[in-house]
Amino acid sequence: MAKAPDPSHTGHSGGSRKNCSVSKTCGGCAYASIPYAEQLKKKEKLVRDLLSGICEVHPIEGAKDPLFYRNKVHWAFGHMGTHLIAGRYAEGSHRIIENDHCLLEDKECAKILSDIRDLAVRFKIRSYDERTRQGLLRRVLLRKGWTTGEIMVVLVLSSPVLPGKKGFIKLLLEKHPSVKTVLININTRSDSMILGDKTICEYGKGYIHDELLGVRFKISPESFYQINHDQTEKLYSLAIEAAALKSGEKLLDAYCGIGTIGLCASASVEGVLLTGVELNRSACSDARDNAKINVGKNSAFGKARFISCDCTKYMLEASAKNEKYDVVFLDPPRAGTTPEFIAACEKLAPKRIVYVSCDPTTLARDLKEFQKHGYKPEYAIPVDMFPLTEHVETCCLLERLRSAKDHISFTLDMEDYYRIKDAEEDKEKR
Ligand code: SAH
Repeated sequence: MAKAPDPSHTGHSGGSRKNCSVSKTCGGCAYASIPYAEQLKKKEKLVRDLLSGICEVHPIEGAKDPLFYRNKVHWAFGHMGTHLIAGRYAEGSHRIIENDHCLLEDKECAKILSDIRDLAVRFKIRSYDERTRQGLLRRVLLRKGWTTGEIMVVLVLSSPVLPGKKGFIKLLLEKHPSVKTVLININTRSDSMILGDKTICEYGKGYIHDELLGVRFKISPESFYQINHDQTEKLYSLAIEAAALKSGEKLLDAYCGIGTIGLCASASVEGVLLTGVELNRSACSDARDNAKINVGKNSAFGKARFISCDCTKYMLEASAKNEKYDVVFLDPPRAGTTPEFIAACEKLAPKRIVYVSCDPTTLARDLKEFQKHGYKPEYAIPVDMFPLTEHVETCCLLERLRSAKDHISFTLDMEDYYRIKDAEEDKEKR
């Protein structure tokens, strides 16, 4: 177990070098000791190298403030002798690193977590031991709505019975009125998944809200939601600009989560017909609610539909029914998408595809596959969604080559026409 120094002693401002005394053992912010401008250069170079020969790469979109950006923070709980400890797991291990001053985590969330640790000591709650499978408190997960300030607390336990539950929650709410909902999740699994299958709402509505580009979103504990609010707005703005949607166009948002990209894009153009596809049922249900809660803003929200399904399966079924889309967004997990998805996408014949990727290696692989299916990667823009870490997000626009081919054959036809016309005129002159 290691302790980090108070960040006020380490000069954490703007682009200066960051220090965290546990960063080596923790491994959560591999770039923390590198000046921010250099971190950006490294990430941009990585994307340029990986996409070289595929498409043009624009300069990286850096963060205005690279610190304390994580709106989702979770700590694991354990024991050191008889002493209760809580913190992040070191990269690739289940060793708890205590650090109340992590450079990535939202400061208010970190404070609430350290207060929950104190409450757990006060209420004599035993932490869970993964080896013996004894004890109760496994993890605590917090989510914060950046624009609303609403905070969700999820206590992950090995059983539903929390001793002194009412008093525990009462004290927590008194100390932190920004906590709008408290849930208990029961996790009896032996893998490294944070949440188990069952969640009970103990206080509030069981979800929080946030806003992106003026659109309001409901967020449940299990749903995916981008962890850096301000950079997400930048990323989505770039994706929307690349999509160049027009009124009446059909938009497919594949891997849509709670519908964020598709709904933000629909908000930007009146009359877009949005379909979102998402595997996770709870996220898909949030997406449907999100269309409803924004319905007054734009006619597109009333027409949006969300389907809980594997997106390749959905696309194959849609293409079998000869459905077409004008624009496809895809935002898959790190593993990227599949050749089957890309083949199915071609059948839907979108004019533009906007690929939002959180791993440039799988992005490069998938772009090559898209090229085989008649789509030309036009440009890519890296976005620093995860400052202080080695990860980088990229937004890439692809356009359908067939229209370019049509354009070439049209140009050749016109050349033929003028050649024949000129030859006939020459003949007449002679
Ligand atoms: N576009 C969203 C979510 C991106 S994360 C956002 O920006 O917030 C990727 C999402 O893809 C997750 O919500 C995950 O549940 C979903 N997913 C993963 N595999 C999928 C599949 N085969 N079909 C549909 N959705 C899938």
